[in-house]
Amino acid sequence: MTEFKIEINHTPEKKQKPAFDNLVFGKNFTDHMFEMDYTAGRGWHDPRIVPYQPLSLDPAAMIFHYGQSVFEGLKAYLTHDNEVLLFRPEKNMERLNKSNSRLCIPEVDEELALYALKELISVDRDWIPNVEGTSLYIRPFVISTEPYLGVAASNKYKFIIILSPVGAYYKEGINPVKIAVQNEYVRAVKGGTGTAKTGGNYAASLKAQELASLTGYSQVLWLDGKENKYIEEVGSMNIFFKINGEVLTPELNGSILEGITRNSVVELLKYWNVPVSERRISIEEVYQAHADGQLEEAFGTGTAAVISPIGEFFWDNKKIEINNGITGELSKKIYDTLTGIQKGTAPDPFGWSVKVEKKEAAGVQ
Ligand SMILES: *Cc1c(COP(=O)(O)O)cnc(C)c1O
Repeated sequence: MTEFKIEINHTPEKKQKPAFDNLVFGKNFTDHMFEMDYTAGRGWHDPRIVPYQPLSLDPAAMIFHYGQSVFEGLKAYLTHDNEVLLFRPEKNMERLNKSNSRLCIPEVDEELALYALKELISVDRDWIPNVEGTSLYIRPFVISTEPYLGVAASNKYKFIIILSPVGAYYKEGINPVKIAVQNEYVRAVKGGTGTAKTGGNYAASLKAQELASLTGYSQVLWLDGKENKYIEEVGSMNIFFKINGEVLTPELNGSILEGITRNSVVELLKYWNVPVSERRISIEEVYQAHADGQLEEAFGTGTAAVISPIGEFFWDNKKIEINNGITGELSKKIYDTLTGIQKGTAPDPFGWSVKVEKKEAAGVQ
């Protein structure tokens, strides 16, 4: 692997750490962050680790006006042997560049980004919580920074990585959630930005999420933007169904985000010889399967929750309950296996875990 040179500027004052047994998702941030700049003609430059701090941006910075931004989300886990494991992090860097490409943001060197990520984790290693179910959430992102009020691709960008110790996603074990099918608003359309992890997609999703919450549902089921018939995603997760012994997930159709958890679940099912297919699935088909007594399980997949079982759907004024609102056997098995691989307590036949090597306490100040 290439040796990269990253300057490290340690914080003069370490922050008070939150209690690791009572962490709220995404509210606490570590002592340092990684930062690198892009200038047209010069490329990406000055990779550095600096104390966690606010950014100073020109009010005309293009990010505020035209929304050129992409992000990633992954986690680092502390094992029982005090090793630090990442889960398929190269996939996140690969996807970051796919998102960059869609948003006309210059691609980053994936190896450098991964190296930077490991260096940052090493510097803030004592922020990785050691309580059961906790982890260190990693948020790499890119924003356009050129001050210019004209619709065009920016000539300047910042690539930043921040870290956040997060609590167990499920405080009382995994419990199925209730999902409202969204008929009016759509998340993404083919040809749009649905396949990119870009801020605008999430801004566009809030209205439907707000409506679902008002009626007592925790997430939205997104249908395709053209016919309003075919299932795309659930909230900001990919979705799976188990129907009559077969596992189904919508095929990647140009508007669905290609989840790394989604891919891992498909790989795992193939490894277990559980029939799995990626194809178009209509909401009608799911309701029909329920009517026929064949809808066995449904769950969402994503880095934050890993597996989120679905206990109820509401669509077209009809409510259906799945597996009596209880977590399905296969959902639980997938959850246990994936989280086991992530934490290093289960065998990893796929080589998905990547170790962050321990560093000698570097005296760089
Ligand atoms: C991030 C994301 C997912 C899940 O991706 P993972 O790589 O599994 O975390 C699914 N859908 C959307 C819209 C997302 O933003």
